[in-house]
Amino acid sequence: MRYSAAEVIDLERRYGAHNYHPLPVVLASGEGAKVWDTDGREYYDFLSAYSAVNQGHCHPKIVNALKEQAERLTLTSRAFHCDNLGVFEKYMSDYFGFDRFLPMNTGAEAVETAIKLCRKWAYQKKGVAPHQAKIIVCEGNFHGRTTTIISFSNDDDARAEYGPYTPGFESIPYGDQAALAQALSQPDVAGFLVEPIQGEAGVIIPEAGFLKAAAELCHKHNVLFMVDEIQTGIARTGKLLAIEYEEVRPDILILGKALSGGVYPVSGVMADDEVMLCVQPGQHGSTYGGNPLACAVAMAALDVVRDEHLAENADIQGKAFRAGLREIDHPMLKTVRGRGLLNAIDIEPANGLEALDICLKLAENGLLAKPTHQHTIRFSPPLVITGEQIEECIGILKKTFAAL
Ligand code: PLP
Repeated sequence: MRYSAAEVIDLERRYGAHNYHPLPVVLASGEGAKVWDTDGREYYDFLSAYSAVNQGHCHPKIVNALKEQAERLTLTSRAFHCDNLGVFEKYMSDYFGFDRFLPMNTGAEAVETAIKLCRKWAYQKKGVAPHQAKIIVCEGNFHGRTTTIISFSNDDDARAEYGPYTPGFESIPYGDQAALAQALSQPDVAGFLVEPIQGEAGVIIPEAGFLKAAAELCHKHNVLFMVDEIQTGIARTGKLLAIEYEEVRPDILILGKALSGGVYPVSGVMADDEVMLCVQPGQHGSTYGGNPLACAVAMAALDVVRDEHLAENADIQGKAFRAGLREIDHPMLKTVRGRGLLNAIDIEPANGLEALDICLKLAENGLLAKPTHQHTIRFSPPLVITGEQIEECIGILKKTFAAL
C-alpha cells in the first residue's frame, strides 16, 4: 500500500515518539547531492544527514560493497572472528595513522568508548585515585545523546529531566585557552574532550591556535587530548580531519557518521597501543560493532573519499559557497562562516520571520536545510557537489532572500 506524503507525516505523528521536529518534506530517493520527495520534487540536500552522507546519497561503490557483503556474511558478533575485521582495522590504522581502531556503531557509542578508554588509562597509566578521574569538556558541546554524554551538555533541551547525571566532567568556555590551562592543572584530570568546530552549536570555529595550544597543554599535564571528529571529520571541512588545520594529533580520535557514507552505522575510536591496550577482553564491546557489513561499507566509504578527492572538493566548493553567500545583501542575513562544506549563517529575525521560516521557503525553492538553534542555519551539502550545482544553490538562496 502506498501512502501520500501527508499520510506518512500523520503516521509518524500518530505512532512515533515526538523527539524530532522535521520539515514537512517526505523523501523517497536520493543520488549524489540531491534527494526527491514522494511527489518527485527535487531538492539539494544541505544537511547530508548531519554530515553522514559526505560521499553523496546512494553512492554506487558503497551500496555495492553493502550488497556484496550482505549476500555473504552480515553478523558474527565478536565471539568469533570474521574475515574482514582485521583487514578493516589495518585499513583504518594506515588511513588515519594510529596503532589501533576500536569499532562501534553510532557516534554516541564512539564518544562513550573514548570516555571509558580515557578513564581506564587514567587509573592504569596516570595513577589517578580510584573514581576520581575528571574529563574537561567545552560549553556548547554536542557529543551525542546517552545519559553520560548529556550529563556534560549545557543544552537544556538535551539534558533537562534526565538526571541523576554522571559525575566526573567539568566545562570550560569553548576556545578559552586560559580556562583550559587552569582546568588541566588540577589533579586527577584524565582527558580533554573537544570538537574542532562545534557543529550542532552552529558551526562555531575556535580562534586560530586554540587546538594547537590545547594539544600542547594536554601533553604538558599528561592528559589525553580527545578530539570528536564525528561531524567535522572525513573531509567535511576541506581536510580529511579538521584538526589538520592546526597540525595536531589527538591521543584519541573519535569518528562516526561519514565513516559509512550514510549507508550503515559505523563509528569508532583510534588510539595508539599505550591507550587502546588498557581495555581487555570483556571490558567493552557491542554486538554489532565491527560486523562484516560495517567493515565492508566503511572501507568502500573511505576509498570514495580518497579516490574522488572529496577533501579538496569540499575546500574549493566551500570557498565558492561562502563567496556566493556574502554577495547576498539582506538585513536578515547577519553573518556567514564556515570551513570547507561545513557552513552557517546567522539570521536576524524580522517581519515575524525566523530561521525556520527561511528554511521552509528554501525547501519550496528546492534546497533543504535545517536551523540549528533558533537563529542559525547550517549548510552542509554532500561533498560530491559540483561547482555548477553550488552556483545553482547560490541562485536559490539569492532568490529566497530577495523574496523575504
Ligand atoms: N559528536 C558529534 C560532534 C556530533 O555532531 C554527533 C551527532 O550529531 C555525535 C557525536 C553523535 O552521533 P550519533 O547521532 O551518531 O550518536
